[in-house]
This record gives sequence, C-alpha cells and structure tokens, in this order.
Amino acid sequence: MKRLLLLAALVVAAPLSAQEAMPRVTRDIVPALRPNDSVKKDVTLPWVSVYQAPAIYAKWWREVANCEHLVLPVELEPIVRFVQVNSSTFRIAPHIEEVYGYTQSDRNTIILAQSKVLDESTVKHEMTHQLDWWNGVDEGPDFHPFDTFEACGLHVTEP
Ligand SMILES: [Zn+2]
Repeated sequence: MKRLLLLAALVVAAPLSAQEAMPRVTRDIVPALRPNDSVKKDVTLPWVSVYQAPAIYAKWWREVANCEHLVLPVELEPIVRFVQVNSSTFRIAPHIEEVYGYTQSDRNTIILAQSKVLDESTVKHEMTHQLDWWNGVDEGPDFHPFDTFEACGLHVTEP
C-alpha cells in the first residue's frame, strides 16, 4: 500500500514533458529509461511504445539460437514484448547513458532504439541475452561472454 501511494505522488509531481518521455508502458520495466534525442525520430510515434515483432524476427530468433547452440523455446518466443524508444540512443541508468538496445530477460522484454528495430545485428544481440536467460547461461560479470557474442559476430559496441 505504501508503494502505491508513493507512485501516485510521483505521477502527480512529474511535469508534463517528463510524463510524455516516460509513458506508463515502460515505468514497470526500466524506471530510469530516457530517450537521448530532444526531437522524436518518428513524429507519429510516442517516445516509448510496444511494437509488433516484424515477421523477420522469427528467422533471426532461429538463426541466432542455432549459431549460439542454444534452445529457442517455441512457446516463449511469442510472449517477448518488444519496446521501441523513439530516439537514436537511450539511457537506462545514470551511468549507462547511450545504448541502442537493452534486454530485461526476466521480463521477456527487449527494448530497442527506434532506428535499430530492423538492424539485424542489434536485434540479434538483444535476442542472445534473452536466449541466454531461457537457457540458463551465466553471462558473467560483464554480461557479454565472448563465446556466445563475438563467436556469432554480435559485438558489444557498434561494429
Ligand atoms: Zn548486450
């Protein structure tokens, strides 16, 4: 109950612009998520929105799972929620200020900068994090084990 009250207070206190930049859909995912651009990449879209996985993603799931020698659970793939941030890059924490993608694997949620939604390498990179979680792969202290990322050409930073 206390937590609910605190959230209500925060919503009331937030200025209008901040509310637009942090819509309800992502508040439960990454509270610190912020677009870095001051102008939307696509003016017709909100700052943050859930989008339907393009058909090509089904192929990318299979390809990346095969390359990583990981199991793709067919019953879980359709429940992954894809979120796009309407910005070139976004931040997810005060010390993580410029990312193209971020996966909250325990919530089956993949977040991508809008410009990277159809970028095969970036999408497959985030899919790998999700596959690692489903397969119980320990990603270690830097979250990017060499043998599961670089081996399939999925770089940690932009190629
Ligand atoms: Zn990563």
